[in-house]
Amino acid sequence: MTFKRHTVTAALPYANGPVHIGHLAGCYLPADIYVRYLRSKGEDVKFICGSDEHGVPITIKAKKEGVTPQQVVDKYHKIMGDAFEGFGISFDIFSRTSSKTHHETASDFFKTLYDKGVFKEEVTEQYFDEKANQFLADRYIVGTCPKCGNDNAYGDQCEKCGSTLNATDLINPKSTLSGEKPIMKSTKNWFLPLDTMQPQIEAYIDSHKEWKSNVFGQCKSWLNAGLQPRAMTRDLDWGVKVPIEGADGKVLYVWFDAPIGYISATKDLTPDWELYWKDKETKLVHFIGKDNIVFHCIIFPAMLMAEGSYILPENVPANEFLNLEGDKISTSRNWAVWLHEYLLEFKDKQDVLRYTLCANAPETKDNDFTWKDFQAKNNNELVAILGNFVNRTLVLTHKYYEGKVPVASEYTKNDILLLEEISKFPAKISASIEQYRFREALSELMNLARLGNKYLADNEPWILIKTDAKRVQTIMNLSLQIAANLTVLMEPFLPFTAAKLGSMLNLNTDLRWKDATRTDLLLAGHQINTSSLLFDKVEDETIVAQVQKLADSKKMNELEKQSEIEPAKAETSFEDFSKMDIRVGTILEAERVPKTDKLLKLLIDTGIDKRTVVSGIAGSYKPEDIIGQQVSILVNLAPRKIKGIESQGMILMAENNKGELSFVEPSKPNMNNGAVIK
Ligand SMILES: [Zn+2]
Repeated sequence: MTFKRHTVTAALPYANGPVHIGHLAGCYLPADIYVRYLRSKGEDVKFICGSDEHGVPITIKAKKEGVTPQQVVDKYHKIMGDAFEGFGISFDIFSRTSSKTHHETASDFFKTLYDKGVFKEEVTEQYFDEKANQFLADRYIVGTCPKCGNDNAYGDQCEKCGSTLNATDLINPKSTLSGEKPIMKSTKNWFLPLDTMQPQIEAYIDSHKEWKSNVFGQCKSWLNAGLQPRAMTRDLDWGVKVPIEGADGKVLYVWFDAPIGYISATKDLTPDWELYWKDKETKLVHFIGKDNIVFHCIIFPAMLMAEGSYILPENVPANEFLNLEGDKISTSRNWAVWLHEYLLEFKDKQDVLRYTLCANAPETKDNDFTWKDFQAKNNNELVAILGNFVNRTLVLTHKYYEGKVPVASEYTKNDILLLEEISKFPAKISASIEQYRFREALSELMNLARLGNKYLADNEPWILIKTDAKRVQTIMNLSLQIAANLTVLMEPFLPFTAAKLGSMLNLNTDLRWKDATRTDLLLAGHQINTSSLLFDKVEDETIVAQVQKLADSKKMNELEKQSEIEPAKAETSFEDFSKMDIRVGTILEAERVPKTDKLLKLLIDTGIDKRTVVSGIAGSYKPEDIIGQQVSILVNLAPRKIKGIESQGMILMAENNKGELSFVEPSKPNMNNGAVIK
């Protein structure tokens, strides 16, 4: 089926931090390439995005930084928007879910479903933190993942194994607000009955076997496991208020309101928004990362089906994850290449990153970004192939013809073959883009530059100019045509370079995709402008500096971890404390426990008796230095065998966050052995 118009969305980035290369490679770059291509084809397309500004992590961040959630989202909406613009991500609108339009739209959408009786009202037991006096959203609960054993799984998802969880699945749940074990308390919420909708959803997914196999496969595995009703409201105070009676203190689930953000952003963009959301001749495509597949392929379509007046996503070309230098990209560990920093450090090299990320896009499996590869892609491909071809063509045109396009006279057999080859590229690249295979499309584009390079190398106009000037005119004319075609075809991938080359060629800016099938884009006599290099080499020291920067941030992160103070333990009673018999003692003898690194065997005068204690302090003290040292010793600890030696008590030590140990001794000299510590 052919479509009259396109609505293309890119995942709403979450406004609790800046965006990094993983985001760009995962969805914004492929979406931008796709949209630029559609525009070049003359299609009617709206490219929709905005920041996702609700949900629990934002409230957690605000709490941690001592600011309001609004201040958090204002800050990151701006940083993210600037970064996207800097990389030429050509949204028609970059809106935000805290906007008035969005609150109204999301609220109305919920109300419509509520009035139609779609939701199931259910009183459920939810985790509640008694100390903080609030219900705990999934993200406020951590515990052990029942599937992989990760100790830091969240109440909704384990980031280690990727499983989606319910908070009640977690083993040993703890509140992140107080560190306490939460209790169960009842609360009323509204559920989308995905279980009863399953047949409808299944039919929809099955009608899209053309989807990428990673996407289709994930949907099928959800369906095979059986869909469960999912709460569309939450007990929280940050978000879109639930617009019905008896829902005080509740907001819409962030995954209910966020995808509606695409709709409200379109409303902000155009009064004709309904054409882009409700007309069957509109093709709706969501670009996302793989962590959002279920929300875009199952939950959002289910919401749209339940509402009834909307079209459903036609495709959801989700990418897998991009890693960085062999390690998972992590915002909290600062293991990332941040887009706003790249823009400052690599001025005018946006296309180099676009190129590298597209050439390495994690389209079918997770992929790795390394700075070494970035350098290689720039130096061996952009500079050596594309840049080299364009530069030789333009320099020779200026040298031989004062920048005027020469007349092509007689074509050789090879020229005719070349012309045929050139005219096939737009269709080849189109086919790849329309199947969301952007790596393949980019590699076809480079093949055109390779073809040009080879043509120059085979024909050697710089030698031929001495013997056959007329033939050189044809060679240069054809080379210039290739450069012009490249300009049109590279625009979706490398928009900054396309603009630069277009202006050097003095090319008509109205040229579109279909024009690239022609081989007469530059007429004889057309004056081109002065030329400069399209790409510069990236030197070794630049790469070394970036790798060092990552190493520094890893180190910094470890130091920060060390400076964290251990959290307070749970309350204890005086009674429990007073059961412990702690005395002042003196070390009489000390020796290493053989075949151990940390253990010393000590003989202690406790005032009560002289006894043997094994203590793990050899990393901080040498045996010969501590004879006569006063210590605090817990004397009524049950004896236990350590490395075959019975240890009768425990020396108390202070330990800092670097793991250094210190004795705890009386600050006055007249505290005799056996003095009580209480
Ligand atoms: Zn897990």
